[in-house]
Amino acid sequence: MNRLILASHNEHKLRELRVLCGLPDDMLLPASAVPGAPDPEEDADTFVGNALVKARALRDASGEWALADDSGLEVDALGGAPGVHSARYAGVHGEDGANNALLLRNLAALGPKASRACHFSCALALVSPDGREFVALGQCPGTLLHEGRGTNGFGYDPLFLPDGWDRTFAELPSEAKCTFSHRARAAERMRPLIAALRGLRAE
Ligand code: IMP
Repeated sequence: MNRLILASHNEHKLRELRVLCGLPDDMLLPASAVPGAPDPEEDADTFVGNALVKARALRDASGEWALADDSGLEVDALGGAPGVHSARYAGVHGEDGANNALLLRNLAALGPKASRACHFSCALALVSPDGREFVALGQCPGTLLHEGRGTNGFGYDPLFLPDGWDRTFAELPSEAKCTFSHRARAAERMRPLIAALRGLRAE
């Protein structure tokens, strides 16, 4: 494997995954490196399914190794919602304020005794030009607060208090979040495989 393409245009995700997967800049390229990169419908009902949809579409368009991630927040008392609908829970993709407000309202509707246990999940999918497929999962457990705290990060970060910490994801510096986040844990599992495919000894 010489290089792989990330099924995302998100610079932040690209930088983070280069570090987490142990890939130099010229080995993990953004989807924008592929002319006419696809934007497939993420219509699977699991994170793994959606990560595979994105990776396969990019691999088919480029003929190269492709990597994709899919992630979200799962709240126990809400049966795992917002789950795969995390980015568009309140209706519009990426409206963090509206998503967070709806999540708090839905949990409040269950009454004061409802569990606030939740976890972030991330699936990474790596697919090869000749049809090999690898997936890795990572989770980060925590508690959903009653109101947001902190300004770092994105999405549900202000509401999420990771287990063992007294600061939310939005109060932690991104370097700290990156050591134990769901994405970091999935990448930790994928990293030795990527190293082996590159013919390197895993660190
Ligand atoms: P995607 O995997 O980039 O499509 O992210 C899906 C959605 O899940 C995001 O838009 C956020 O709402 C939520 N999400 C995923 N990872 C995180 C995280 O690390 N912090 C906060 N929200 C996240």
